[in-house]
Amino acid sequence: MESGKIIELSEDEPFCFDCQSLVPCFNECCRDLNQFLTPYDIVRLKNHFKLSSSDFLKRYTTEHIGPQTGLPVITITPADRFERICPFVTPSGCSVYKNRPSSCRMYPVVRVLSRSREDGKKEIRYALLKENHCRGFEQKRQLTVREWMAGQGLSPYNGMNDLMMDIISLKNQYIPGPLKGDAQQLFYTMCYDIDRLKEVGTVPGLEKIEISDEVQNDDAELLRFGMNYLKNYFLAHQSI
Ligand code: SF4
Ligand code: SF4
Repeated sequence: MESGKIIELSEDEPFCFDCQSLVPCFNECCRDLNQFLTPYDIVRLKNHFKLSSSDFLKRYTTEHIGPQTGLPVITITPADRFERICPFVTPSGCSVYKNRPSSCRMYPVVRVLSRSREDGKKEIRYALLKENHCRGFEQKRQLTVREWMAGQGLSPYNGMNDLMMDIISLKNQYIPGPLKGDAQQLFYTMCYDIDRLKEVGTVPGLEKIEISDEVQNDDAELLRFGMNYLKNYFLAHQSI
Protein backbone atom coordinates (compact mmCIF):
# COMPACT_ATOMS: atom_id res chain seq x y z
CA MET A 1 0.00 0.00 0.00
CA GLU A 2 1.42 3.39 -0.96
CA SER A 3 2.17 5.83 1.82
CA GLY A 4 -0.02 8.90 2.18
CA LYS A 5 0.00 12.42 3.49
CA ILE A 6 -1.49 12.86 6.97
CA ILE A 7 -3.28 16.13 7.75
CA GLU A 8 -4.56 16.70 11.29
CA LEU A 9 -8.01 18.23 11.66
CA SER A 10 -10.67 18.71 14.30
CA GLU A 11 -14.06 16.96 14.45
CA ASP A 12 -15.90 20.03 13.12
CA GLU A 13 -13.40 21.08 10.47
CA PRO A 14 -14.72 20.66 6.90
CA PHE A 15 -12.89 18.80 4.13
CA CYS A 16 -13.73 17.99 0.48
CA PHE A 17 -14.31 14.33 -0.27
CA ASP A 18 -16.75 12.01 -2.00
CA CYS A 19 -16.63 8.33 -2.84
CA GLN A 20 -19.21 6.90 -5.25
CA SER A 21 -19.31 4.74 -8.36
CA LEU A 22 -18.49 7.68 -10.71
CA VAL A 23 -15.06 8.47 -9.22
CA PRO A 24 -12.29 7.37 -11.65
CA CYS A 25 -10.60 5.33 -8.90
CA PHE A 26 -13.75 3.34 -8.03
CA ASN A 27 -12.78 0.06 -6.25
CA GLU A 28 -9.04 0.96 -6.38
CA CYS A 29 -8.76 0.82 -2.60
CA CYS A 30 -10.20 -2.72 -2.45
CA ARG A 31 -7.00 -4.23 -3.88
CA ASP A 32 -3.46 -4.52 -2.49
CA LEU A 33 -5.32 -5.54 0.64
CA ASN A 34 -3.93 -5.50 4.15
CA GLN A 35 -7.27 -5.33 5.88
CA PHE A 36 -7.42 -5.90 9.63
CA LEU A 37 -10.73 -6.89 11.16
CA THR A 38 -11.83 -5.74 14.60
CA PRO A 39 -14.03 -7.97 16.80
CA TYR A 40 -17.15 -5.96 15.89
CA ASP A 41 -16.28 -6.12 12.17
CA ILE A 42 -16.32 -9.91 12.49
CA VAL A 43 -19.71 -9.94 14.23
CA ARG A 44 -21.23 -7.82 11.45
CA LEU A 45 -19.64 -9.81 8.62
CA LYS A 46 -20.36 -13.29 9.99
CA ASN A 47 -24.02 -12.27 10.44
CA HIS A 48 -24.05 -10.82 6.92
CA PHE A 49 -23.12 -14.28 5.60
CA LYS A 50 -25.26 -16.09 8.22
CA LEU A 51 -22.18 -18.04 9.29
CA SER A 52 -20.92 -18.99 12.74
CA SER A 53 -17.86 -17.03 13.85
CA SER A 54 -15.71 -20.18 13.46
CA ASP A 55 -16.91 -20.77 9.89
CA PHE A 56 -16.52 -17.11 8.91
CA LEU A 57 -12.97 -16.97 10.32
CA LYS A 58 -12.02 -20.19 8.56
CA ARG A 59 -13.48 -19.19 5.19
CA TYR A 60 -12.52 -15.52 4.87
CA THR A 61 -9.70 -14.63 7.24
CA THR A 62 -6.10 -15.30 8.23
CA GLU A 63 -4.86 -15.30 11.81
CA HIS A 64 -1.51 -13.72 12.70
CA ILE A 65 0.20 -13.54 16.09
CA GLY A 66 1.86 -10.27 17.11
CA PRO A 67 5.51 -11.23 17.78
CA GLN A 68 5.93 -8.79 20.69
CA THR A 69 2.47 -9.14 22.27
CA GLY A 70 1.43 -12.70 21.39
CA LEU A 71 -2.00 -11.25 20.56
CA PRO A 72 -3.99 -12.83 17.72
CA VAL A 73 -4.69 -10.42 14.86
CA ILE A 74 -7.20 -11.16 12.08
CA THR A 75 -6.97 -10.00 8.44
CA ILE A 76 -9.24 -10.63 5.45
CA THR A 77 -7.71 -13.28 3.19
CA PRO A 78 -7.36 -11.67 -0.28
CA ALA A 79 -9.07 -13.43 -3.19
CA ASP A 80 -5.74 -13.79 -5.05
CA ARG A 81 -2.02 -13.71 -4.21
CA PHE A 82 -0.86 -11.10 -6.71
CA GLU A 83 -3.26 -8.18 -6.76
CA ARG A 84 -4.51 -9.05 -3.26
CA ILE A 85 -8.09 -8.14 -4.14
CA CYS A 86 -10.72 -8.13 -1.40
CA PRO A 87 -12.98 -11.20 -1.73
CA PHE A 88 -16.01 -8.95 -1.21
CA VAL A 89 -15.47 -6.48 -4.05
CA THR A 90 -17.58 -6.70 -7.24
CA PRO A 91 -17.58 -4.53 -10.41
CA SER A 92 -20.49 -2.59 -8.90
CA GLY A 93 -18.77 -2.05 -5.55
CA CYS A 94 -18.63 -3.62 -2.11
CA SER A 95 -20.94 -6.65 -1.79
CA VAL A 96 -20.98 -6.39 2.01
CA TYR A 97 -21.53 -2.61 2.03
CA LYS A 98 -24.11 -2.60 4.87
CA ASN A 99 -21.71 -4.56 7.04
CA ARG A 100 -18.33 -3.40 5.71
CA PRO A 101 -15.47 -3.16 8.22
CA SER A 102 -14.85 -0.01 10.24
CA SER A 103 -11.61 0.86 8.44
CA CYS A 104 -13.48 0.85 5.08
CA ARG A 105 -16.10 3.17 6.61
CA MET A 106 -13.58 5.46 8.24
CA TYR A 107 -11.28 6.12 5.26
CA PRO A 108 -10.07 8.84 4.54
CA VAL A 109 -10.47 9.84 8.20
CA VAL A 110 -8.06 8.45 10.79
CA ARG A 111 -9.26 8.36 14.42
CA VAL A 112 -6.66 7.97 17.17
CA LEU A 113 -7.70 7.24 20.76
CA SER A 114 -5.28 7.81 23.63
CA ARG A 115 -5.70 7.78 27.42
CA SER A 116 -3.81 9.85 29.96
CA ARG A 117 -1.59 7.65 32.18
CA GLU A 118 -2.35 9.93 35.15
CA ASP A 119 -6.15 10.06 35.19
CA GLY A 120 -7.20 7.68 32.39
CA LYS A 121 -8.93 10.56 30.57
CA LYS A 122 -9.71 9.73 26.95
CA GLU A 123 -8.50 11.92 24.08
CA ILE A 124 -9.55 11.41 20.47
CA ARG A 125 -7.69 13.04 17.60
CA TYR A 126 -8.53 13.04 13.92
CA ALA A 127 -6.56 13.32 10.69
CA LEU A 128 -7.09 12.88 6.96
CA LEU A 129 -5.05 10.27 5.13
CA LYS A 130 -4.50 11.57 1.57
CA GLU A 131 -3.31 8.76 -0.69
CA ASN A 132 -2.25 9.55 -4.26
CA HIS A 133 -4.51 6.96 -5.90
CA CYS A 134 -7.63 8.31 -4.16
CA ARG A 135 -9.49 10.84 -6.33
CA GLY A 136 -12.20 11.33 -3.73
CA PHE A 137 -10.37 14.48 -2.58
CA GLU A 138 -10.98 16.10 -6.00
CA GLN A 139 -14.76 15.97 -5.53
CA LYS A 140 -16.71 19.06 -4.51
CA ARG A 141 -18.74 17.62 -1.63
CA GLN A 142 -17.74 19.28 1.63
CA LEU A 143 -18.39 17.84 5.10
CA THR A 144 -16.94 17.69 8.60
CA VAL A 145 -15.39 14.66 10.31
CA ARG A 146 -18.44 14.50 12.59
CA GLU A 147 -20.77 14.43 9.57
CA TRP A 148 -18.60 11.86 7.81
CA MET A 149 -18.66 9.49 10.79
CA ALA A 150 -22.43 9.85 11.27
CA GLY A 151 -23.03 9.16 7.56
CA GLN A 152 -20.84 6.05 7.68
CA GLY A 153 -22.71 4.56 10.69
CA LEU A 154 -19.52 4.42 12.74
CA SER A 155 -20.94 4.91 16.22
CA PRO A 156 -21.32 1.20 17.25
CA TYR A 157 -17.96 0.37 15.64
CA ASN A 158 -16.12 3.16 17.46
CA GLY A 159 -17.54 2.10 20.85
CA MET A 160 -16.45 -1.54 20.43
CA ASN A 161 -13.09 -0.58 18.90
CA ASP A 162 -12.36 1.71 21.86
CA LEU A 163 -13.09 -1.19 24.25
CA MET A 164 -10.64 -3.33 22.25
CA MET A 165 -7.95 -0.62 22.55
CA ASP A 166 -8.50 -0.56 26.34
CA ILE A 167 -8.06 -4.35 26.51
CA ILE A 168 -4.85 -4.29 24.46
CA SER A 169 -3.40 -1.52 26.59
CA LEU A 170 -4.31 -3.40 29.84
CA LYS A 171 -2.70 -6.56 28.48
CA ASN A 172 0.49 -4.70 27.60
CA GLN A 173 0.52 -3.01 31.00
CA TYR A 174 -0.11 -6.06 33.20
CA ILE A 175 1.20 -8.94 31.06
CA PRO A 176 4.15 -7.48 29.11
CA GLY A 177 5.71 -9.82 26.56
CA PRO A 178 3.99 -12.41 24.40
CA LEU A 179 0.68 -13.89 25.55
CA LYS A 180 0.78 -17.69 25.28
CA GLY A 181 -1.24 -20.91 25.55
CA ASP A 182 -4.65 -20.71 27.23
CA ALA A 183 -4.48 -16.93 27.66
CA GLN A 184 -3.92 -16.50 23.92
CA GLN A 185 -6.79 -18.91 23.19
CA LEU A 186 -9.01 -17.01 25.63
CA PHE A 187 -8.28 -13.74 23.81
CA TYR A 188 -9.08 -15.31 20.43
CA THR A 189 -12.38 -16.79 21.63
CA MET A 190 -13.60 -13.72 23.51
CA CYS A 191 -12.75 -11.25 20.76
CA TYR A 192 -13.16 -13.15 17.53
CA ASP A 193 -14.75 -16.59 17.82
CA ILE A 194 -17.63 -15.61 20.09
CA ASP A 195 -20.09 -18.26 18.87
CA ARG A 196 -17.93 -20.86 20.64
CA LEU A 197 -19.17 -19.34 23.88
CA LYS A 198 -22.75 -20.20 22.87
CA GLU A 199 -21.90 -23.74 21.82
CA VAL A 200 -19.89 -24.93 24.77
CA GLY A 201 -20.35 -22.25 27.41
CA THR A 202 -16.73 -22.67 28.49
CA VAL A 203 -13.46 -20.95 27.72
CA PRO A 204 -10.24 -22.98 27.34
CA GLY A 205 -8.34 -23.33 30.56
CA LEU A 206 -10.95 -21.53 32.64
CA GLU A 207 -13.97 -22.42 34.73
CA LYS A 208 -17.43 -22.69 33.20
CA ILE A 209 -18.91 -19.30 32.42
CA GLU A 210 -22.63 -18.65 32.86
CA ILE A 211 -24.07 -16.50 30.06
CA SER A 212 -27.73 -15.47 30.15
CA ASP A 213 -30.02 -16.30 27.20
CA GLU A 214 -30.52 -12.58 26.63
CA VAL A 215 -26.79 -12.08 26.07
CA GLN A 216 -26.44 -15.29 24.03
CA ASN A 217 -29.19 -14.11 21.68
CA ASP A 218 -27.60 -10.75 20.91
CA ASP A 219 -24.17 -10.98 19.24
CA ALA A 220 -23.18 -7.39 20.08
CA GLU A 221 -23.98 -8.07 23.75
CA LEU A 222 -22.15 -11.40 23.63
CA LEU A 223 -19.07 -9.67 22.24
CA ARG A 224 -19.31 -6.95 24.89
CA PHE A 225 -19.58 -9.70 27.53
CA GLY A 226 -16.48 -11.45 26.13
CA MET A 227 -14.42 -8.27 25.91
CA ASN A 228 -15.41 -7.14 29.42
CA TYR A 229 -14.49 -10.61 30.70
CA LEU A 230 -11.09 -10.18 29.08
CA LYS A 231 -10.69 -6.68 30.51
CA ASN A 232 -11.31 -8.06 34.03
CA TYR A 233 -8.95 -10.96 33.30
CA PHE A 234 -6.10 -8.54 32.54
CA LEU A 235 -7.04 -6.24 35.44
CA ALA A 236 -6.81 -9.26 37.78
CA HIS A 237 -3.11 -9.51 36.85
CA GLN A 238 -2.57 -6.01 38.25
CA SER A 239 -1.88 -7.36 41.73
CA ILE A 240 -0.04 -10.57 40.75
S1 SF4 B 1 -14.94 -4.89 2.57
FE1 SF4 B 1 -15.87 -3.79 0.88
S2 SF4 B 1 -15.09 -1.69 1.03
FE2 SF4 B 1 -13.80 -2.96 2.32
S3 SF4 B 1 -12.03 -3.55 1.03
FE3 SF4 B 1 -13.59 -5.17 0.84
S4 SF4 B 1 -14.86 -4.62 -0.94
FE4 SF4 B 1 -13.68 -2.80 -0.33
S1 SF4 C 1 -12.48 7.71 -3.91
FE1 SF4 C 1 -10.87 6.86 -2.62
S2 SF4 C 1 -12.04 5.61 -1.16
FE2 SF4 C 1 -13.39 5.97 -2.93
S3 SF4 C 1 -13.07 4.26 -4.34
FE3 SF4 C 1 -11.63 5.89 -4.94
S4 SF4 C 1 -9.75 5.29 -3.85
FE4 SF4 C 1 -11.42 4.24 -2.85
